[in-house]
Amino acid sequence: MTSPLALAGAPGIAVERCNPFGHATDKGPKHLMGGMYGPQYEGKIKWVCKAPATGRYRMECRCDALRHVPAPVMPLCLHHLAMIRKRMSDACTTCMLPQRNIELANEYLAVQDLLRTAQLDGAPEARLLALVSRLNRIGEQIHEMTCQACLVPGALPHDHPRDRPMAHKCKLTLVEVS
Ligand SMILES: [Zn+2]
Ligand SMILES: [Zn+2]
Ligand SMILES: [Zn+2]
Ligand SMILES: [Zn+2]
Repeated sequence: MTSPLALAGAPGIAVERCNPFGHATDKGPKHLMGGMYGPQYEGKIKWVCKAPATGRYRMECRCDALRHVPAPVMPLCLHHLAMIRKRMSDACTTCMLPQRNIELANEYLAVQDLLRTAQLDGAPEARLLALVSRLNRIGEQIHEMTCQACLVPGALPHDHPRDRPMAHKCKLTLVEVS
């Protein structure tokens, strides 16, 4: 069986590979799931598609204008184009997980670990209570930094404060770029 890439890849013709997850760009795999997971989470499966790209696309969200870094351009094959189109109503991961919220979530998990260890070690109650109140404070911060209106099922698109990043839902649109 001849692969489509071999057909398209005649000598001298540069064929751009489909790259739906932003690999091999300067952004790197840290963009996996919108930056929530670093390369260490990537595991054995490299999310790379071998098919040639039919065009270059970018997922745009209504908050993009506020950011300094534009969304990465993805060369896509027909299959991944259709797949991403189908999931287009998915919320933008960059908006859903701003950097500060990721940090807070990691902090929360770290303190939770400390608490678990302290409990296993039979630490004094004062220490446990201190850890619990730290957890609660981080939880409150996460709550404050999350748009509660967005969490209501079926919430309509609405504007968000521009002066501070807040976790919220934004729909994405797939646009072709030249
Ligand atoms: Zn947004
Ligand atoms: Zn593909
Ligand atoms: Zn967004
Ligand atoms: Zn909102």
